[in-house]
Amino acid sequence: MGGEILDRQKSVEFLLSKGVLISPSVVEKINSGLISQLKPLLEKGESFVLDEAFLQGLSQAFNVEILRSYNEPSSNRDVEDFVAFFNSRFKQLSNLLIHRPEMSNKVSISRLVNKSDREAVSIIGLVSNIAFTKNNNIKLTLEDPTGSIGVIVTKRDTQLFRAASSLTLDEVIGVSGTNGKNILFASSITWPGIPLIDLKKSPLQESAIVLSDLHVGSKNFLEKEFKKFLSWINGRLGSEAQVKLANKVKYIFIVGDLVDGVGIYPGQYNELEIKDIYKQYEMCAELLSQIPQDKAIIICPGNHDALRLAEPQPPLSIELASPLYKLPNVIMVSNPARVNIGRTGGFEGFDVLLYHGYSFDYYVANIESIRNSGGYNNPELILKYLLQRRHLAPSHGSTLYVPTNIDPLVIEKIPDMFFTGHIHKSALFNHRNITLVSGSCWQSKTSFQEKVGHEPEPCRVPIIDLHTRKMRLLNFGG
Ligand code: ZN
Ligand code: FE
Repeated sequence: MGGEILDRQKSVEFLLSKGVLISPSVVEKINSGLISQLKPLLEKGESFVLDEAFLQGLSQAFNVEILRSYNEPSSNRDVEDFVAFFNSRFKQLSNLLIHRPEMSNKVSISRLVNKSDREAVSIIGLVSNIAFTKNNNIKLTLEDPTGSIGVIVTKRDTQLFRAASSLTLDEVIGVSGTNGKNILFASSITWPGIPLIDLKKSPLQESAIVLSDLHVGSKNFLEKEFKKFLSWINGRLGSEAQVKLANKVKYIFIVGDLVDGVGIYPGQYNELEIKDIYKQYEMCAELLSQIPQDKAIIICPGNHDALRLAEPQPPLSIELASPLYKLPNVIMVSNPARVNIGRTGGFEGFDVLLYHGYSFDYYVANIESIRNSGGYNNPELILKYLLQRRHLAPSHGSTLYVPTNIDPLVIEKIPDMFFTGHIHKSALFNHRNITLVSGSCWQSKTSFQEKVGHEPEPCRVPIIDLHTRKMRLLNFGG
């Protein structure tokens, strides 16, 4: 990926300018995520040699390894880039479908013309259009790199019709059915889906918590409640059992929207307590500096953070958030990102997928099965919907993309845990042994949320015990 190479080059240059000696064997591993981990050392002006042994020591200090953090430049993209991007997405997702038994008759769309009438066939395609016939059957258009074809889902097959009613544009599915003249009559639809995975348990007595959507700088920021959380995490608040719980926390994830930002929606300016973005991050860092430094804080950005909206969003920049970079236990990653936590001798650790959740609004608004079952009040449905599609934002309209050679929003590897934010409503559950978390928030209801009918549920803190995989929710609200 061009962006990764550029990021590496810049990062290496930066380290060299600081007088760091770099062993050639580790050059491949250097990126902006690593720089953020090295920041405290660099600030102190300590001299060191960056080699394998040093890197190992660094990741063991917190047992956090950044598996994927993106830093793609967003400039100079044209139509060809988008074509390559969607071709890559198609390939990534069709690889997840092609070995399924339902796809045993699979042919390319262009080969359908060679098949006889009423022959049983399967295709894999990207949903490029969803329409209704005049008889109220669903007519999909499916595309693969060889061509496109119409697919009819008849309303007589009620189960299939209901499933097809939840389809979203640009997702990649498998369809089995019978061949017609320039049309396919569907008998089943296959999604990439999620298999049941092993429920891993750490040999260590550690736990992780998930925060998101602090919105520092907003008049609605719940400072008093957040300070209660800080007291607890320092072991100064709660029963003996609750203090024990706090001591076990080793990993603190913050899944975006650390600050409220400036100019995010019309009229926001009047709702800001701190109207300067730098000062917002300053205050945010001041609060997070009160978290004990033996706990790793892993941060990805959200749509209120002062960055481009197009995803993947790069890690918060040092220019913008320098007070955060000064904290020795902060690890910055992109949105989305994948990290591994808790790896220790003989135990491979947990893979965690982080995604702020900007695309969720689209699916709540457009997918009837989500909207009619609670919408924003039912984060479980949203997360399951996207996992089934193995994509964080399948529809083009649901977020802005930075087209890259590989679609970073495809969920290629199944994570042990999937942490999200954005909808300000906490949920914590196990789905096929994946721990799914929708983060709460630290902001009371804003006028904007009032208008769009959001019911936030602030000040909840989901805790995952990594030894038992038990989950619970603490409430620091009134
Ligand atoms: Zn938010
Ligand atoms: Fe958000």
